[in-house]
Amino acid sequence: MPRIALGGIVHETHTFAPTVTGLAAFEDYFLIQGDAILDAMRGTRTPLGGEIAALDDLGYEIAPLLWATAMPSGLVTAEAWASLRGRLLARLRAAGPVDGVLLALHGAMVAEGANDPEGELLLAIRAIVGPDAPIVSALDMHGNLSQAAVDAADALVAFDTNPHLDTYERGREAGDILRRMVEEGLRTARALRRPPLLLSALATWTERAPLAPVHTRAQAMERNPRVVVISVMGGFAYADTPHTGMSVAVTTDGDQALADRYAEELADIAWQHRAAAAYKGEPVAEAVRRAMAAPRGPVILADVADNIGGGSPGDGTVILRALIDADAQDAVVVIADAEAVAQAWAAGVGATVALAVGSKTDHLHGAPVQVAGVVEGLTDGRFTNEGINHFSQLYGHEIHMGPCAVVRVGGVRILLTTRRTPPGDLAQLRSQGIAPEAQRIIVVKSPVAFRGAYQPIAAEIIEVDTPGLVTADLTTFAYRHLPRPIYPLDPMER
Ligand SMILES: [Zn+2]
Repeated sequence: MPRIALGGIVHETHTFAPTVTGLAAFEDYFLIQGDAILDAMRGTRTPLGGEIAALDDLGYEIAPLLWATAMPSGLVTAEAWASLRGRLLARLRAAGPVDGVLLALHGAMVAEGANDPEGELLLAIRAIVGPDAPIVSALDMHGNLSQAAVDAADALVAFDTNPHLDTYERGREAGDILRRMVEEGLRTARALRRPPLLLSALATWTERAPLAPVHTRAQAMERNPRVVVISVMGGFAYADTPHTGMSVAVTTDGDQALADRYAEELADIAWQHRAAAAYKGEPVAEAVRRAMAAPRGPVILADVADNIGGGSPGDGTVILRALIDADAQDAVVVIADAEAVAQAWAAGVGATVALAVGSKTDHLHGAPVQVAGVVEGLTDGRFTNEGINHFSQLYGHEIHMGPCAVVRVGGVRILLTTRRTPPGDLAQLRSQGIAPEAQRIIVVKSPVAFRGAYQPIAAEIIEVDTPGLVTADLTTFAYRHLPRPIYPLDPMER
């Protein structure tokens, strides 16, 4: 019976964020080893859950290594990276000879002193298992793919959708590619192409150009039986590395010329649609005016730059300020602010409290908003996702926001959370006594991922050009490692 090593280290790193990410941030989500991985992840809709299901179905033996993931945030410390990498590799060495390695990685992790952790890890794994044992990994399509990573792995299987709704299926696909290598002797050829294109988080929605037409063509190419998998990577513009940007990786059954030709064509399609990458959303004042004038709700206002799933603090106040100033009614804003939660808890349900809400992490997301409001509810902030959505697909179904408070300020309800919690599921509001469908305006701190949960109930979605760490205006970042020239930062003809 084939024996497969399984594990992964996943982090989306915002290298311009003012804070660093240590081991505690991983411990707060997942930092588990050995059989605990199977106990925690078997049956989940995550990439690792898909890989485990594939191996279980095949009856393969699993040697679980290490599974670590954290909410997107700033640069990973050298200590955390050394510890995670060291533990995973030590367990792989201790596992003895294996018939293959199945991984879940992100692709946009950056650590102090390591601008390509995934590439490094894959090379180190290759050195341990030797040239013949297959290495296949699931990947987030927000990864910035390096040539080293493509060279070291036999196949990299990126999510096809953003919001990420196909993570489980891609995990299963990675498992099936591994099976073909183990049982049928499949050996792959890979081609990586990088159009000189930098996509903001907002521009990585897979239903819109430039990614949508690339996927359309890639799907047709994947019907060619010689194609093993095509990964269309939107990239993560907020991780400043020499391999940051959009890319496509085509994996075939050994036909290098086909892989090269297809990758070239897909990169060209992306380049032809580059103008769409410059879209930044609507100005705040105009977005709030339109939302308030809408004939029916809920109108979803997407706070593009305070994108928790992209590494921002989730305490931005720019839209909250505008809604309160305009006396908006039946509006909801979620703000991560542990201090304000504690004050509301101290006051108790029904009390009127004076709070300074939000914008306490940095000065990039507005200023604290002074409010006088009524505490409507206090909870422990635990809820179970009710749908299949972007974040349950990454972190599982039980979500823990930490202690929460709902404070009403005029017609605006503010859900204050202790932990920053992305808008992944309608149960986030419902668990706090707020019916999402009954709201006129809901502010979500996300440019794209929220669509998994909120698009089905939205009367209208307005992407708002807010200030913040995950701004769609990429000209505001002082890149040092990014390959240049690159669109839309540099004037380019081609
Ligand atoms: Zn992603």
